[in-house]
Amino acid sequence: MKMSKMFVQTLREFPSDAEVVSHKMLARAGYIKKLTSGVYNYMPLMWRVLKKIENIVREEMDAAGAQELLMPFVQPKELWEESGRWDAYGKELMRLKDRHDRVMCLGPTHEEIITALGRDVLKSYKQLPVNLYQIQSKFRDEVRPRYGLLRGREFIMKDAYSFDTTQEGLNKEYENMAKAYTKIFNRCGLPTKMVQSDSGAIGGSVSHEFMVITDTDAGENNVFYCDDCDYSANSNHAVSKLLPAEIDGAKYFSKTEIIDTPNTHSIEELSKFLNIPSTLILKTLVYIVDKKPVLALIRADKAVEETKLMNAVGGIDIRIASSAEIAELMAEKGFDAVPGFIGPNGMDGITIVADETVRDMKNFVVGINQTDKHLVGANLSDIPAIESYVDIRLVEAGDLCPQCGKPLKVTKGIEVGNIFQLGTKYSEPMKAIYLDENGKAKPYIMGCYGIGISRTAAAAVEAHYDEHGIKWPVSIAPYHVVIVPVNIKDELQMKVAQEMYEKLLAAGIEAVLDDRDERAGVKFKDADLIGFPFRVTVGKTINDGLVEYKVRETGDMQTLKPDEAVEDLIKTIKSKI
Ligand code: ATP
Ligand code: MG
Repeated sequence: MKMSKMFVQTLREFPSDAEVVSHKMLARAGYIKKLTSGVYNYMPLMWRVLKKIENIVREEMDAAGAQELLMPFVQPKELWEESGRWDAYGKELMRLKDRHDRVMCLGPTHEEIITALGRDVLKSYKQLPVNLYQIQSKFRDEVRPRYGLLRGREFIMKDAYSFDTTQEGLNKEYENMAKAYTKIFNRCGLPTKMVQSDSGAIGGSVSHEFMVITDTDAGENNVFYCDDCDYSANSNHAVSKLLPAEIDGAKYFSKTEIIDTPNTHSIEELSKFLNIPSTLILKTLVYIVDKKPVLALIRADKAVEETKLMNAVGGIDIRIASSAEIAELMAEKGFDAVPGFIGPNGMDGITIVADETVRDMKNFVVGINQTDKHLVGANLSDIPAIESYVDIRLVEAGDLCPQCGKPLKVTKGIEVGNIFQLGTKYSEPMKAIYLDENGKAKPYIMGCYGIGISRTAAAAVEAHYDEHGIKWPVSIAPYHVVIVPVNIKDELQMKVAQEMYEKLLAAGIEAVLDDRDERAGVKFKDADLIGFPFRVTVGKTINDGLVEYKVRETGDMQTLKPDEAVEDLIKTIKSKI
């Protein structure tokens, strides 16, 4: 590729809407151009990177025994009604009508389509197991599209779906995919951590995410992990060993009574006012799950993990209630307490979820839906509405590992892929069945396995950059090497550069010749920004028969004869792709 012909536009500045490194770099280096919110043009450089990631994914998926197909991007409503997700999926699902008023959606994922396809084709146990995958653009009307390719509305995904006859078969395929994923991300120059996770809207029971660990803002997930054993989990799923409440409030309260606690709107104010530790306060939080209020009860030194709470009540959408919604709830129950004084008693008909931390509380303090008052010296017998205890608490760094009891650590991660055991979540409602050895009809046991292709590219930038630009791993770089003649009007420089360029191309190396009539400084800047893994500069030293050879990753520089440089490049690059 000649740089003078390349369809690329590098910018002097980072775009003003870019918050994270990968968005800034990819936009400035001319890889992506925004069309509208969360929707990007993949420019030629970007497309080369994406195709490389796709090819690595293809090779490893094929090697793992999966077969590639391509399903339609536009999907009919009826299949989503069969699975029950037409109502459950929420606003991320982009719904539209065709000219005959038939309702469709843009594919955010393809469980419905593949299950219907399996149902039509896989009639006998003899045809199973099978794993099918595709690489395709998906559309999700994300609430907050941001961070460039990391969270777009339109993005490229590899999605695979397995069909098995037994749980053991699924377990085996799940392992098989986990291994393939590790290989894929390693080949992309992107080591990942496989962490336990919540199954979310896709459903199923067991699931893991592949996280690129990063300390930047781009890591949208908190990952808890243990250095002493192999435990690691997304915060939406992480658990920790629960230590029994070490404090009994008997020391502070000799009897159960309602007392005045003026202006104690926060846990801090209340514990200060009563001069007690927050472990003695039962906190009541009001959430809205699927449009209905839910009360979450937790020991006040701990926080609620919203996904866990949502799962505990079987919801699909959760948020904290606004003050207006709390006021409405109070009015409905005949109270007029303001936030800070809410409590579980008298809330008949409202779902109440108590965290496990509540189970051991004794002689504690709790709100009673009266402003400026609390019940102190209370016990669980005073709160008949609690029926059971579940884990809805947010794990914190330092909490104890559920496996080995050592303190957990926390880090941030970018989820680049995930694997789910779906079981019969789709095959059962969609009546996707096969006949077993005895001619008995059974639903398939399914799994699904996703990789964000475009997100992986952006995550690679988050993991490989410096202040000058991107430092692509060789395996996914748009081109391997750029050859920069310092002065294109210098005949010898141009001749040597051209010869090296041709030799590299002939050897199958993806080379760019920067034949632009620009100052060397401009060309070097662009080379660093775009992130070619290697740069060869043909400048004045060519008069002594030497060129300069630079490695982007390390900054190492050598002067070599042109042929030595070519030979070294071919050897090094071939060993890395
Ligand atoms: P997230 O929690 O980040 O929204 P998800 O759990 O919704 O991801 P899946 O539905 O399982 O993800 O999709 C599979 C993969 O597709 C993810 O692991 C991620 O790499 C990628 N992906 C999901 N949503 C987006 C998006 N909005 N933009 C880019 N890639 C995405
Ligand atoms: Mg999502």
